[in-house]
Amino acid sequence: MKYNRVLLKLSGEALMGEQQYGIDPARLEQYAKEIKKVVDEKVEVAIVIGAGNIFRGMQAGKMGIDRVQGDHMGMLATVINGMALQSALEGEGVYTRLMSGIQMDQVCEPFIRRRAVRHLEKGRVVIFGAGTGNPYFTTDSAASLRAIEIDADVVLKGTRVDGIYTADPEKHPDATKIDELTFDEALNKNLKIMDLTAFTLCKENDLPIVVFDMNKPNNLYHLMSGEAVGTIVSQ
Ligand code: UDP
Repeated sequence: MKYNRVLLKLSGEALMGEQQYGIDPARLEQYAKEIKKVVDEKVEVAIVIGAGNIFRGMQAGKMGIDRVQGDHMGMLATVINGMALQSALEGEGVYTRLMSGIQMDQVCEPFIRRRAVRHLEKGRVVIFGAGTGNPYFTTDSAASLRAIEIDADVVLKGTRVDGIYTADPEKHPDATKIDELTFDEALNKNLKIMDLTAFTLCKENDLPIVVFDMNKPNNLYHLMSGEAVGTIVSQ
């Protein structure tokens, strides 16, 4: 396999499938199966999951909820998604641990870096819930941060499109896909791959990002096998 240790970032929205809200059981099972395929090849997999399918801190204002409270709600929602993914993976016979950036001992382990690395070494999939544990961040930033902390080889950003395009392919049909680019090129072309905090963390720590289509069957496996899947952003 091309990488030994990866951090897979899944958005909360991806878990909705065709629904408008919440978790689609079919999508959950599909993701668990895709992840199992690379775990079976002895790849160490850590996952950060978002919460756009349940709650985002940005929504708080229009509900009369303050931003920090809203961000905490968003972080708790990532733990809900993490628990669902954990169960789905366990259903496929994959050993997992859920670690949270906000302590909630009855539900999951607290995030402790050395312990997370030990779990990975033992072949367990580690799901990082509650983002960074801090408001005003996103789960993309959590993905970059945790990836650096556990010394992952790459951040794999699973999306609905098969990579980075010259423009948004859903709005500009003539946009073309880019196979690889540097961090500086992505910045200069103003290509929005992750929010700037997340992106800068990757750039400054020389951590490549691969954007790929997580919904295409076997795509994660093909990416890990070294096939030209998605778009790679590196130094
Ligand atoms: N969040 C936060 N700190 C973090 C990560 C997440 O406050 O370190 C909150 C924030 O309100 C965010 C929500 O959790 O809107 C869900 O995360 P995100 O929007 O990144 O989810 P995604 O877009 O990936 O589904």
